[in-house]
Amino acid sequence: MSRLSLQPKAWVEESPRRTPVLGECEVLVVGGGPAGLAAAVAAAQQGADTLLIERYGFLGGMGTAGGVTNFAGLYGRRHGQMQQLVHGVVDELLERIDALGGLNAPQDGMGGRIRVRSYDVAAYKCAADAWLTAHRVRLLFHVLACDVQMEGDRIQSVLLQTRSGRAALRVQQVIDASGDADIAALSGAAFTLGDGGGNMLYPSTMFRIGEVQPQAAQAAVGEFGAIEALMEAASARYTFPRRGAILRPQRNPRQWRANVTQLRNARGAAVDATNALELSAAELEGRRQIVEYMRFLRSEVPGFEQAEIAEIAAQVGVRETRRVHCQHMLDAQEVVSGASFADSIGLNAWPIEAHLDGSVQWQHFNDAHNAFNQLPWRMLVPLAPAPTNLLVAGRCAGMTHLGQSAARASGACFVMGQAAGTAAALRVQGQEGYLGIRTSLANSGVILG
Ligand SMILES: Cc1cc2nc3c(=O)[nH]c(=O)nc-3n(C[C@H](O)[C@H](O)[C@H](O)COP(=O)(O)OP(=O)(O)OC[C@H]3O[C@@H](n4cnc5c(N)ncnc54)[C@H](O)[C@@H]3O)c2cc1C
Repeated sequence: MSRLSLQPKAWVEESPRRTPVLGECEVLVVGGGPAGLAAAVAAAQQGADTLLIERYGFLGGMGTAGGVTNFAGLYGRRHGQMQQLVHGVVDELLERIDALGGLNAPQDGMGGRIRVRSYDVAAYKCAADAWLTAHRVRLLFHVLACDVQMEGDRIQSVLLQTRSGRAALRVQQVIDASGDADIAALSGAAFTLGDGGGNMLYPSTMFRIGEVQPQAAQAAVGEFGAIEALMEAASARYTFPRRGAILRPQRNPRQWRANVTQLRNARGAAVDATNALELSAAELEGRRQIVEYMRFLRSEVPGFEQAEIAEIAAQVGVRETRRVHCQHMLDAQEVVSGASFADSIGLNAWPIEAHLDGSVQWQHFNDAHNAFNQLPWRMLVPLAPAPTNLLVAGRCAGMTHLGQSAARASGACFVMGQAAGTAAALRVQGQEGYLGIRTSLANSGVILG
């Protein structure tokens, strides 16, 4: 039996082929995570004929496929008061999830320094479908964007692998919201993988736990960090892949969300989710770690004696892979110092949450009373040699390794997506530059400063 290898010793020559054109659109959004959703709605609201393509059969990105089940970064402290700082198109999504009974009340943590809202994954999927279709965004599921056809310095077509074979879409503007910067990489844009030295934020396989006794569990591990002491006490009997476990109740208090796994490759470094073999092995390892963690919970943690696995995420949760080199790269100092920018597109209110080897390290905003930073428009604009009709949004946008540790949270991804969608639609109308974007964002309720 030969080993699979990404360092091939042999090659096959594929025949040249003619690829059928499936259709065309003014704005193509690749990826239906938080960034892609907001981008598509914003572009459609500006009047652009917008198509969103997604490799799965549902929307939500890591928020659903990765089992995140929690919106972070929507709330932050301003003038000492905790409040929602990310507004705009996302407000309608929150309303729609809430109307389906799927949105939890805000939950505070870390001594009141953070506020999150958990949600039901099924409600998120259904709300996102209804949201995009209400705004006349066209959707194409079960397609993988796998190549681009260039015309000069512009993307002329995006090539898709579909269940009906390979196909092409003719496009005017493209937003890469794939999380992994697939389109940017395919079209020759410069990017950095992780910290550039082979280290990425560690991925985790997320899961939900059912049949929890809420009161006993809350008393045992209700506050962030409380589970640590129980893990420490049991460390001789169990293997824990990381410290910094996060266990939180869902809207249904008998269901809890577990963010406790950490996935390494054979070198002991973070799994590289752009490496097909590492990503595949990580799926097995993630589920193995879940089985081990459930053994610990059932035996050692009050409230979890009868607990069972309610759901394991459809895929490994990937925090970071490629980050595209853009006109601005948001860095850690700009996050913690609460930086302002003349071309702000909205706010990030999540602190640095770095998933490092064996632990999670937090770095909070310097000013606890004004705990947010602005996000600049330039972080969505890739540098040459990237195509001139490409924008990036979400966790693959212009951020450094540690800047991304904060602004990859859903809140900032919605902000980036809305700005990218607005800008792409304005480009279709022949408008370039920040001023038109600013006016449109402000009119839709985005807090810019
Ligand atoms: C384990 C884990 C826990 C997290 N916890 C939280 C949390 O508690 N709160 C929070 O707010 N954030 C959390 N995050 C971060 C947040 O979920 C992500 O950073 C965010 O979802 C990124 O949004 P995005 O739109 O940039 O990309 P993604 O959510 O990754 O979405 C990208 C989408 O593009 C699709 N796609 C990718 N490539 C292609 C292609 N070539 N063709 C077609 N479709 C494609 C994918 O299927 C996916 O749907 C967590 C992340 C992880 C991994």
